[in-house]
Amino acid sequence: MSSTIYHDADADLGVLAGETVAVVGYGNQGRSQALNLRDSGVSVVIGNIRDYAHEAALADGFRVLPIAEACAEASCAMLLIPDEVMPEVYTGKVAPQLSPGDLVSFASGYNVAFGLIEPAAGLDVVLVAPRMIGVGVRDAYVAGTGYPAFVGVHQDATGNARARMLALCKAVGATRGGCIEMPMADEAALDLFTEQGFGPAWGRVMMSAVELLVEAGFPPEAVLMELYLSGELAYSLEKIREVGMTRQMDFHSRTSQYGSITRGARYLSLDAPLKEKMGEVLGEIRSGAFAKEWSEQQEQANEIFEKIRAIREQMPFTKWETAARRAFRIGDAGKG
Ligand code: NDP
Repeated sequence: MSSTIYHDADADLGVLAGETVAVVGYGNQGRSQALNLRDSGVSVVIGNIRDYAHEAALADGFRVLPIAEACAEASCAMLLIPDEVMPEVYTGKVAPQLSPGDLVSFASGYNVAFGLIEPAAGLDVVLVAPRMIGVGVRDAYVAGTGYPAFVGVHQDATGNARARMLALCKAVGATRGGCIEMPMADEAALDLFTEQGFGPAWGRVMMSAVELLVEAGFPPEAVLMELYLSGELAYSLEKIREVGMTRQMDFHSRTSQYGSITRGARYLSLDAPLKEKMGEVLGEIRSGAFAKEWSEQQEQANEIFEKIRAIREQMPFTKWETAARRAFRIGDAGKG
């Protein structure tokens, strides 16, 4: 199954002539996307919770209004606030201000995919989800390079939703990197799977290796340096991106290549159980069970995070890391 991928040439900024875009939220994505939109010649107004006085947006020279007023003024609303507060903000402040033919854009498919937001039938509803952190969205635009995005048309009320979506993608700099079209449900599932399926499995491999080597008597700082603190792993990942997973092996010594190929086969037996666990996680995501659980946990969320942080600080692993990072003056630990 192949996807449709859009580039700059597929998008026409002229489609947005006469339109005003309300950027709702001026955080990680909001600030970067608003600056890029403005530099692309799009008329932008910022809608922010701190009413008329969001210092950062004002300092950047934007007109800043309360969210409802910004949406009332605009024909496109780009929702760039945290996903967990979005349903309440959408229902209370955004939806009442939107008229038929207006466009609403999400940077994550989460709320629409799991039925937490149901936009009215007369709206164009699109997905413009950068695969890049907020600061990178701005840096890439300024540098003239691109970043990729997952995009989609969830609802086309005007018959022009795809053209408007592509114009927004071009204006924020995403078509330079390539925009892959997909349903919002797929974007949400892929995003959550990376966070819940891939990330923790990868983390477990790293922690198992650290624990094994420390238990075998190697000093924690040497173990951590060997495995990832040196930056060699990060560098290899960059090479994997550049030349591919298997070809990057050519950058390693012959001893390394022989050893990792011959010993790598021993882990094949873990493939089936690993896929089974990951499949469970994916199943919970796609069925909406995770979204339901997370919605139900909102009231206790701060308490849960405090407990997790307290446990994390007590873990031997965290203590080894902090000591090693301090000793080698890596990152902010070096300043302590
Ligand atoms: P942020 O956490 O950076 O958003 C902060 C902004 O949201 C601020 O303007 C803040 O207002 C506002 N805000 C916070 N709470 C509320 C509320 N209760 N009511 C109204 N406004 C509120 O969000 P991100 O930029 O990280 O994420 C925005 C969207 O982009 C999400 O859909 C996310 O999934 C998506 N995304 C994020 C990526 C990332 O790297 N961060 C990558 C790709 C997509 P104030 O300053 O006044 O408190």
